[in-house]
Amino acid sequence: MDRIKIPKATAKRLPLYYRYLIILNEEGKDKVSSTELSEAVQVDSASIRRDFSYFGALGKRGYGYDVKNLLSFFKKILNQDTLTNVALVGVGNLGRALLNYNFKRSNNIRISCAFDINKEITGRILSGVPVYDMKDLKQQLSDQQISIAILTVPSTAAQKTTDEMVDAGVKGIMNFTPIRLSAPASVRVQNVDLATELQTLIYFLDSEKQKNDEL
Ligand code: ATP
Repeated sequence: MDRIKIPKATAKRLPLYYRYLIILNEEGKDKVSSTELSEAVQVDSASIRRDFSYFGALGKRGYGYDVKNLLSFFKKILNQDTLTNVALVGVGNLGRALLNYNFKRSNNIRISCAFDINKEITGRILSGVPVYDMKDLKQQLSDQQISIAILTVPSTAAQKTTDEMVDAGVKGIMNFTPIRLSAPASVRVQNVDLATELQTLIYFLDSEKQKNDEL
C-alpha cells in the first residue's frame, strides 16, 4: 500500500480510532457515526471527519462509517497486519510491568526480548520473555531484526544505554526515563515521562480550581 502523507496530529489519533473500532467490531456493530466516535475517543467530530478525509471517502454523511471497512483500512495503515518485535532494556519495576502488559491485544506489537545487567535476572524468562545480558544486545537485536527498544533503566544509566542501543542498530526508542536523550538524528525518540505527565495534570487541576475559587 502506498504511504499516504498525513499530518502528524492525524497520525497520532489513528491508534485511538483503531482501538475503538476493534471494540465496536467485537460488539458486532456494523456502523459508527462520527458523533459516536467523537464521544468515545474524545476528539471533536470535525477533526474526525477531516482525519478520515485524508484517506478518501470512507464514509457517507448522515449514514455513518462502515466499521469493518474502516478497521481493515486502518489495520493496513498502522501496519497491524505484521507483528512487530520490540526489545525492552532495564527489567526493573516498570520494565516488568511492561513485560506483563499484553500489547498484542490491541496492537500487533510484542516484546520479544529483554536486557539487563543484573545477573540475578539475566538468563531467565520473565512473563514469557527471555532476559539477556546487555553484552548480547547487538547480537540479539540483529538476529531478531529488532529496531525498536523500550528504555526502562535508571536515569543514571539512560544515556550510556542509549549509546549502546544506537550502536546495536536501534532506530526508535520509547524512553520511559526522565532524561532527554541525545541520539543521532536518524534515531527517533519518543518520551514517556510518567512523573512529568502526572505533574502536568496536577498543575492543570490546581489552576482550574484556583480559577473557580476566584469566581
Ligand atoms: P523502575 O525504575 O523501573 O521502577 P527499579 O526501581 O526496580 O525500576 P532501577 O534501579 O530503576 O530499578 O533499574 C531498573 C532496571 O534497570 C534494573 O533491573 C537494573 O538492573 C537495570 N539496569 C541498571 N543499569 C543498567 C544498564 N546500564 N543497562 C541495562 N540495565 C540496567
